[in-house]
Amino acid sequence: MEELVALCKRRGFIFQSNEIYGGLQGLYDYGPLGVELKNNIKQSWWTSMVYDRDDIEGLDASILTHPDVLKYSGHEDTFSDPLVDCKSCGERFRADQVPDYCKEEDLTEPRQFNLMFKTNVGPVDDGASFAYLRPETAQQIFTNFKNVVDSTSRTLPFGIAQIGKAFRNEITPRNFIFRVREFEQMELEFFVEPGSDEDWHKKWVENRLSWWEEQGVSKDKLELLHVTGEDLAHYSKATVDIMYKFPHGLEELEGIANRTDFDLGSHSKNQEDLAISAKTAKNTSSNAKLAIQDIKTNEWVVPYVIEPSAGVDRGFLAILNESYQVQELENGKERVVLSLKPHLAPIKAAVIPLKKNNSELVDLAHKLKNELQNLRIGRVVVENTGNIGKSYRKHDEIGTPLCITIDFDSLEKNQVTVRDRDSMEQKTIDISDIPDFFKDYLIK
Ligand code: ATP
Repeated sequence: MEELVALCKRRGFIFQSNEIYGGLQGLYDYGPLGVELKNNIKQSWWTSMVYDRDDIEGLDASILTHPDVLKYSGHEDTFSDPLVDCKSCGERFRADQVPDYCKEEDLTEPRQFNLMFKTNVGPVDDGASFAYLRPETAQQIFTNFKNVVDSTSRTLPFGIAQIGKAFRNEITPRNFIFRVREFEQMELEFFVEPGSDEDWHKKWVENRLSWWEEQGVSKDKLELLHVTGEDLAHYSKATVDIMYKFPHGLEELEGIANRTDFDLGSHSKNQEDLAISAKTAKNTSSNAKLAIQDIKTNEWVVPYVIEPSAGVDRGFLAILNESYQVQELENGKERVVLSLKPHLAPIKAAVIPLKKNNSELVDLAHKLKNELQNLRIGRVVVENTGNIGKSYRKHDEIGTPLCITIDFDSLEKNQVTVRDRDSMEQKTIDISDIPDFFKDYLIK
């Protein structure tokens, strides 16, 4: 973990947030390379959900959330962790995360601490005009269920996907970006006919496992955990967590829950007219019927929902951990390399002029960079340090799959040298063939 944290800071992936004022705990900022990797992870998820399938629509709802949403969802009552105070060191901990140096007899009885952040909405701070910062993106998918059905004419089964920030006032944020107070989620709510939920749940667990593998997360570091007993959330009929062997231990990367008809049922008006199987509180505030009409029978059905919910930041950490390698080279030296899948690499290619002050070489490098950039496959840079060895080391360390060197042969024979990050092999290629080579390499 320490090596990853150091690399992230040194190369501009992740910084401690608010650092110049001493920092704020549990918050991180993504730097120039971090934002690229993060966007690529999100884009890969979005493409696999919304574009590659025909049964999912996207959504981008507000972060500030009406208190009633989180009242009827159950969050106001149950979204809390047990908190204990240590009378000896004066610190507070989540009851299951007390460090070894605190003695049992110094701890207070656990009390429930709600993890939701509140803020004031509008100019009057009278205590009544507050809203929550959403603790998960899911609830606004449920509140938009009718809008999406009415505007897209979807029938079951279909899903709504959303990527966005979520906020939790975690008692003990820890392990770098693993547990933070502001993070991003990639959530799908997949609505199905009651009765077909168990099959769909299995399908989504399989689907999500293969997606993580496609991002370069190796199968032997992933495990499925069937959540049982007290650990099962109040809305869930069954939850399978995808666990990953993080540097600090085996922990949840993504959860896939069968939320039954609890959410749509909870947020619906006239609940008594609907056949809701989950135990829901009586809703006296909603103005919408969150159900869908069966085209054959005309009956109103409250769909069951399967929810794969993944953390972008935890995914980032897993992908970074998987790709980070320190390799021994034949000459006895070492190199650090991030063997990221090309579609996730922050920079797809670095174009490197052999000499920093030779304008012909530098101009040609910029021309090639612009040509590759215009293919819209991802970020391409000119690396003009005049030191090829140093440029290779840098781009290995940040996971750039291709380095393209412009030398005097490029001017005389229209040829460039392409170096592959993983094999370190170098090939001479005609400059006119580079765009096709680049496309073939990156779009597989
Ligand atoms: P944990 O038990 O680790 O607190 P959770 O079960 O509360 O997680 P969910 O409510 O299922 O998490 O949220 C779905 C996903 O959102 C998690 O699998 C995780 O990837 C991500 N996530 C949740 N809380 C955090 C956090 N504090 N920091 C970063 N990611 C988080």
